[in-house]
Amino acid sequence: MLDCVFCNIIQKTIHGSIIFEDDQMVVIQDILPKAPVHLLVLPKKHIASLIDVTAADQALLGAMILKAKQFAEEHHIADSGYKLLFNVGKHGGQTVKHLHLHLLGGKQLAEIE
Ligand code: 5GP
Ligand code: ZN
Repeated sequence: MLDCVFCNIIQKTIHGSIIFEDDQMVVIQDILPKAPVHLLVLPKKHIASLIDVTAADQALLGAMILKAKQFAEEHHIADSGYKLLFNVGKHGGQTVKHLHLHLLGGKQLAEIE
């Protein structure tokens, strides 16, 4: 058992509602959804935060954003709109220290601060 919850989900050590997987990322349902559609796009590689991303991860980040856009279309929220969100560090409200992109939609979402 690894000490990172998302690494455990990726390695299937714990159940984590994986709905998509390829060689570089997985998409999971958020366990405490804050909107009718609330998915998380995770790189398989353990990167703690956006702070730790480097230029070498540029293609990975692009692929994560495109995958989120594809899931928005598949969940029929592309026309109504949605948010893609990285929470970064303490002030950013990041609670899980494995990079993840939130896809939120299906209702009117609050403005960001
Ligand atoms: P953060 O606040 O770090 O940006 O977001 C972490 C997200 O991960 C939260 O929305 C939280 O509900 C979700 N989460 C935390 N633990 C688990 C888990 O074990 N499984 C799943 N599917 N989601 C989780
Ligand atoms: Zn991890």
